Parts: sequence; structure tokens; C-alpha cells
Amino acid sequence: MLYNGIDFETYFKNYPDKDGYFGKYGGVYISDELKAAMAEITEAYFTICKSRKFIAELRRIRKEFQGRPTPISHLERLSDKLGNVQLYVKREDLNHTGAHKLNHCMGEALLAKYMGKKKVIAETGAGQHGVALATAAAYFGLECDIYMGTVDIAKQAPNVARMKILGANVVEVTHGLATLKEAVDAAFAAYAREYKDSIYCIGSVMGPHPFPMMVRDFQSVVGIEAREQFVEMTGELPDAVVACVGGGSNAMGLFSGFLNDPVEIYGIEPLGKGPKLGDHAASLKYGTEGIMHGFNSIMLKDENGEPAPVYSVASGLDYPSSGPEHAFLHDLGRVKYDVVNDEETIDAFFTLSRLEGIIPAIESSHAVAYGMKLAKTMGRGSVLINLSGRGDKDMDYILQNYGIR
Ligand SMILES: *Cc1c(COP(=O)(O)O)cnc(C)c1O
Repeated sequence: MLYNGIDFETYFKNYPDKDGYFGKYGGVYISDELKAAMAEITEAYFTICKSRKFIAELRRIRKEFQGRPTPISHLERLSDKLGNVQLYVKREDLNHTGAHKLNHCMGEALLAKYMGKKKVIAETGAGQHGVALATAAAYFGLECDIYMGTVDIAKQAPNVARMKILGANVVEVTHGLATLKEAVDAAFAAYAREYKDSIYCIGSVMGPHPFPMMVRDFQSVVGIEAREQFVEMTGELPDAVVACVGGGSNAMGLFSGFLNDPVEIYGIEPLGKGPKLGDHAASLKYGTEGIMHGFNSIMLKDENGEPAPVYSVASGLDYPSSGPEHAFLHDLGRVKYDVVNDEETIDAFFTLSRLEGIIPAIESSHAVAYGMKLAKTMGRGSVLINLSGRGDKDMDYILQNYGIR
């Protein structure tokens, strides 16, 4: 399918280009030493990850350990309530550890093993990426260092406990605001010291090349499965697909299955409390081009041009940028990016729980909220929503801040 001059038939061969660019976005903006480490990972990715042995092993792990394929569920009661549009969800909440993140963590850790690395290194904010990576490290017998700010360690006690139980080393980062940004810096610094024996594992389709490509490719299993399952279930393609966008990995996973189809694609960012800078994390809607954390993309900046403080009710979505491929698809118009606010999100959280018996993650509830809005405006047709994770992790927060509705 040709769209605005881009041929989506051959898209995955051409994007990113060999330097890691999706149009003008992406690239590798880090020290020369780390550039060499990234080049080593890129080289390993193209040789090892494309080998039959690697693909067969990852496929087996996904089936026997992760519980893939995850199903698609038809939301019959919710669809009936909203009108004639049929809503469906891809159940990444049923993936082992309760979210899509394990899809790329298992791939990254398996690559680490094939490369002969002994350790995986990462940062985490809310702790979801840390738990997924700690799980993968335990599975493969790798050491695991997770860098986390003091503030986040206090806030995310259950995830810190999970990581420790899984055998990970949680490294406390005390400087600055002691949250995600400082944790990223500390993890990068550690990787610069230890790259010979370790590999850095990024938690989304961001960071320097090859990570946006690699994480997308590992997550594409979501879109490949979903397309096949949807056609088998209904005899046709969905009219629209929807996913929430933080860094953008669950979204790229689903979207990659439908980019070459006549399907409307929606990426949903958190509008939080409203459009004022600091009250949301809708980087693609309100941001401008800029470089952070090793890549060029669209980002929210403060008056000094530094990454701006952001907010979302979903801790997995409060990041001041999005992956470079999203910035590219945004400018191209192939994916439409829109927003929902906290209120609409919490409403969708309770609606899905009550009508369908599925408690969604607050992140995923953004996509559900948008799918519900679409269903009201479309009149007829079908919408497939990526349910990126389950809401168990959010229940205390919901009860404390919103009560039972
Ligand atoms: C981390 C997380 C997200 C956001 O990350 P993406 O890379 O944008 O997918 C979304 N949903 C859940 C459940 C998460 O844990």
C-alpha cells in the first residue's frame, strides 16, 4: 500500500535506514565509546536474531513460557452498550508478567545470551520494565542491574520486591530529583563502564539505534498474531486499531501488523489533567523536534529546551518523548495520534472491569477510552484495541484516589 509516497509493502526493509533513521528521526546521539557498543549490538542483531536457531528458540519460549499466542476477545456487552460498532481487545494482559513488555525483554535477554554477555542493565521508573527484564534475566541465568531513583523505589515498593525476589540487583540512584531521568543517566554511565560483559536493555521503542528497530521487531509478534486472529474470528480486517503510546512499544507492536492494510491506526497519548505543559505527557501532540536519551524525535521541552516535566495518571506513559518511528508516522499521517484525559481513562478502567470482567492497566485504559469514543462516532464497523497490560498493579492507587465507582 502506497501512502504519502511511502510503500508499506517494503516498509520494514527500508525503515529504519542503515544509520537508524526513520526519515529525520532516530539516529545515535551518544558518546563514541557507546556508539561502538551500539554498533556491536546492531551487528549482532542482524546476524544472530535473523538466524534460524534464534528464531526457533524465541518462538518456543514464547509458546512454552510466555503463554503466546495471547487471544483476542470480543467485547460484546460493551459493544452493545455503545451502539453498533464491535470492539475487540488483544489480550497482552494475559502474557506472562501481565503486560507486553516481556515480549522485547525475552528477545533482548536471549540476544545477550547468544552474544556471550553475563549481565543485562536497565533503568526503570514505575518498575514495570525492571520486573520484565528481571524475569527474563532469571530465565536465562543472567545477572541483572536495574537502576532506579530513590523516589521511585519508595513509590513502587511491590515492583521493587518483585525484582529482588527474581534475583535482580536494584541500584538506588540518589542524585538530582532521583526519578527516571537520573536513573537513565546512571544506567547509561554504568553501561559505558561495563559494556564488554553486559548489554543495555531499553524498555521501549526508543533510545539510540538499534533499539527502536529491535524492540519494534520483537513486539511485532503482537500485530502478526492479532491480524491473523482477527481475520480468522470475523472474516475481515478491523476498520481501526488503537493502542496507547508512552515510549510506544505496545503500539508499534500492534501497528506493525496493519501498516500495509486499509486500516485506520490510532496512537493515544495521555492528556492527564489538561493541555498545560506539565499537566500531560502528550509529546506528539504538543511537542517539537529535539534530541534526548540518544535519539532525535518529537519531545516536550521546558523554557531551556530541556525535557519538560510531564504527568499522567498512568506511570508507564509519563515520558516527555516517544520513539522516533512514531514521530515519523505522525508526520507522515499514516498513524493518527490523539489524546484522552485522566477522567476518561478512569471511566474506561471501571467500564471494562464491570462490563467484561477484565481489569485493564491504567496505561491500556487510555486505548480503551479512545476505542469507546470511536465506537460512538463511527456508527458501524469494528475496532481492535491493544490491551497492553492488566490492572492488578494499579488497584491500590485507584482505590486510594478514586474509590469504587
Ligand atoms: C510500560 C507500559 C506501557 C507503555 O509503554 P509503551 O512502550 O508505550 O508500550 C503501556 N502499557 C503497559 C501495561 C505498560 O506496562
